[in-house]
Amino acid sequence: MGVLGLFPFSGSASAAETIASPTAKVEPTRPEKLKIIVTGGHPGDPEYGCGGTIARYSDGGHDVLMLYLNQGDPQETRSRPASPVRKAEALRAAEILGARTAFAGQIDAHAVIDAEHTEAFHSQIAAEHPDVVFTHWPIDNHADHRAMSILVYDAWRRMGKSFALYYYEVSNGEDTVQFSPTHYVDIGKTEERKRQACFAHTSQSPERYYRVQEAVTHLRGLDCGYRQAESFIHHIQSPSGWLPGGR
Ligand SMILES: [Zn+2]
Repeated sequence: MGVLGLFPFSGSASAAETIASPTAKVEPTRPEKLKIIVTGGHPGDPEYGCGGTIARYSDGGHDVLMLYLNQGDPQETRSRPASPVRKAEALRAAEILGARTAFAGQIDAHAVIDAEHTEAFHSQIAAEHPDVVFTHWPIDNHADHRAMSILVYDAWRRMGKSFALYYYEVSNGEDTVQFSPTHYVDIGKTEERKRQACFAHTSQSPERYYRVQEAVTHLRGLDCGYRQAESFIHHIQSPSGWLPGGR
């Protein structure tokens, strides 16, 4: 077979199938009620990166779970439980956004990615049967964020790439680096609730960090023609089109 015979337009169905198979994706039928998981290293990450989008999903009647890798307490050790402060703040934020919360049981600043933790995390994700999962963009200066991104990626592969996978940005420059969005969600009508959810994390200097995130959503708004927008990178091999009013 000549070189041209390798291309789909050659009319060779078998050659086209051979080329397509390694990355072929199946677009599942969209359920009426979506199950969304927004993962983050710490309480506050999903809210800062995706709070406006989370509120849009919950307003639309969809089920949203904010899943945190740890409880964000630097004093926590194997023998010393985490302070309940940040868990309580997360619950308050979730109430504002109409979401649920869950924790993956790891320890702040001591993220572990080994066979045992990878399996446990995969089981936790699989039990939720998500249609869409959001996670940290993997180029990030915080090891807990990178760990969460890797754990999600592994679960996505193990589950046959069955859910839509989106990456979000948080604390740009300090945490997320080199983020180039592919998709945008208008948060003009939900930004106030996002702000309240972020400020529910009162122990984490929200007046400082929200200013950064607000500048980012204004910048992303300029990109796409909205007043404020959250932006995402969609994994090209995952199902697409399930963002709330996204483009
Ligand atoms: Zn974080």
